[in-house]
Formats: sequence, C-alpha cells, structure tokens
Amino acid sequence: MEKDARIYVAGHKGLVGSAIVRNLQDRGFHHLVCRTHDELDLTDYQKVGEFFQSENIDYVFLAAAKVGGILANSQYPAEFIKENLMIEINVIDWSYKTGVRKLLFLGSTCIYPRMAEQPIRESELLNGTLEPTNEAYALAKITGIKMCESYNKQYGTNYISVMPTNLYGPNDNYNQVTSHVLPALVRKFYDAKRSGDPYVTVWGTGRPKREFLHSDDLADACIYLMDHYDGPDIVNIGVGKELTIRELAERIKKIIGYTGEIRFDTSKPDGTPRKMIDVSKLNDLGWKATISLDQGLERTYREFLLNLNEIVDR
Ligand code: GDP
Repeated sequence: MEKDARIYVAGHKGLVGSAIVRNLQDRGFHHLVCRTHDELDLTDYQKVGEFFQSENIDYVFLAAAKVGGILANSQYPAEFIKENLMIEINVIDWSYKTGVRKLLFLGSTCIYPRMAEQPIRESELLNGTLEPTNEAYALAKITGIKMCESYNKQYGTNYISVMPTNLYGPNDNYNQVTSHVLPALVRKFYDAKRSGDPYVTVWGTGRPKREFLHSDDLADACIYLMDHYDGPDIVNIGVGKELTIRELAERIKKIIGYTGEIRFDTSKPDGTPRKMIDVSKLNDLGWKATISLDQGLERTYREFLLNLNEIVDR
C-alpha cells in the first residue's frame, strides 16, 4: 500500500479495527477513511453504496462484524448470522463495484470443524461439522470467505481472508454476558478483589483449551499480509500456543492479585474442546507474533484500570 492510499477500515472502533488504525497511523498512512456505526449502517446496502461511490477507496480492511462470546453466540444466533452476512455482502460487493484494489476480510478460527485435527491447518475448512455454540456466526464468516473467493474467480478481484484465533486488547468488550473469556475474567477477578468476594465463578469445566493473540499483533499481521500476500487460500493468524481456561484463570488471578478461590459453573457451555491453529503458513510468509500472553495480560490489566469508568458503564 502506498502511504497516500485511501484505506477504509470497516469497524474502526472495535477491538480489531482500532488496532489496525493505530498500526496504519504509526506507519504513516494518512488517508484513512472511517465511519462510526451511527454515521454509516453497514447493513444498509444503499448507504454503503453511496459511501463507497463518494470515497474512492483503494484498500479495505473488513473488520466490522457482530461479535460476542459463547453465551451471546448461543442466545442470539439469528442476529449473528443476519448482521454479519449483510455487512459482508454490502462491503464486499461495493468494494468490487467501485474498483477497490485489494480487500482483507477478517474471519475467525471458529469456521473450522469442531473436531478438526490439531493444530488446525487452513485446509480443514469445510471438512466437518461446526461447533454448535457459534455455528451461525461461523457460517456467516465462511460465506464471507467464499464471497471473496468467488469474486476473485469471477471478477478477478484481489480479496484475501485471514483467520485470527481468540483475540484480546484495547477496546475489548468487558460486558459480563456478551464478552469473550479473557476480558470476562479480567473483570470478574477485578470485581471480586474489590468487593472481597470469597470466590470467582468461571464458566464450564475449565478444561477447554484456547489460544490468545493480542490485537496489536493481529493488526501487524493483517497489514503485513495486505502488502505481501495475494494468494487464493485463507491464512491463519495466531501464536501456535494454547492453554486451558483454568490456566488462563489462574494467570489472570495472579496478575490482578486476587487471593480467593476459583469455582467452575458446569451448567455453562464449554464450547469446542480445542482450537489451536497451525501458523506455519503465516510464519513461512515471514510474519511471527511478538507479544507473549503474560506481557499482553499485564498490559490489558493496566489499560483496564485506566479505562475503568468507561468499561464499567457498558
Ligand atoms: P469461544 O472461544 O468461542 O468458546 O468463546 P469464549 O471466549 O466466550 O469462551 C471460551 C471458553 O471460556 C469457553 O469454554 C467458556 O465456557 C469459558 N469461560 C469461562 N468463564 C467465562 C466467562 O466468564 N465468559 C466467557 N465468555 N467464557 C468463559
């Protein structure tokens, strides 16, 4: 990408989009085009069209999505499938119609089959049954990948798709019902420490394993791939290391300095047992993650404390 290229980051207020914007600004890109949700409803085909037609966009990072943790995904599958499909159709189709030079679509590792061979290679896509707790979201993301692929085939566009593992970082969602596990636990341990609660409740058995990538690492990988990858296949983005939810809870407990007990609520779903991805393709393309989980957790807790007022209001 040229430094004066017009770059649209869809979803620039979110965890992923805001990290991409920070990284682009640090690298000196100065024509970033962004719209808040209130300024542009990405589920509105006409409005999205007017926006693309007037802005002359060269590159698109499609980081806008309706996202949520295991409970939100299980409770609101209709909203997850509908909103994500609409955003994808509108942004991808208008990118094509207005001659965007390259688009990067953000998928998720939940697109892989529940029982995929670990670590999960990109070739596992559509090899088996999906995890039921986030099937609707996964199907929308798979459709996004296939839209990019289809537009490339039929129209000769250059749209690439990346599959990040579980993410965390600035502008994460700390809401107790809709959040993902990492921010949820930061908030739970913080609240319990402050109120002197004797125990913290962690959902599920604590046995599922997850991999966590800091959003700044993800953003760096996305911009790297925008510049260095034009292939037809999807690319995993992760660290290639996993830990159990129990281990994650223990690490967060230690960083926050909470001294009570951890209890598990097995009435809540575990979700997929494991989803560690194979990142050899990304490594072979020349990119590796640099933020360790401990560094990322320390940083996240510092930022959580700094933004406490805003976070607790949400
Ligand atoms: P997933 O990776 O798509 O399953 O999404 P989550 O990040 O929401 O959940 C990951 C795992 O953490 C699941 O096994 C959850 O049951 C577990 N977990 C434990 N405590 C919590 C919590 O407070 N919130 C969330 N969202 N998940 C939790």
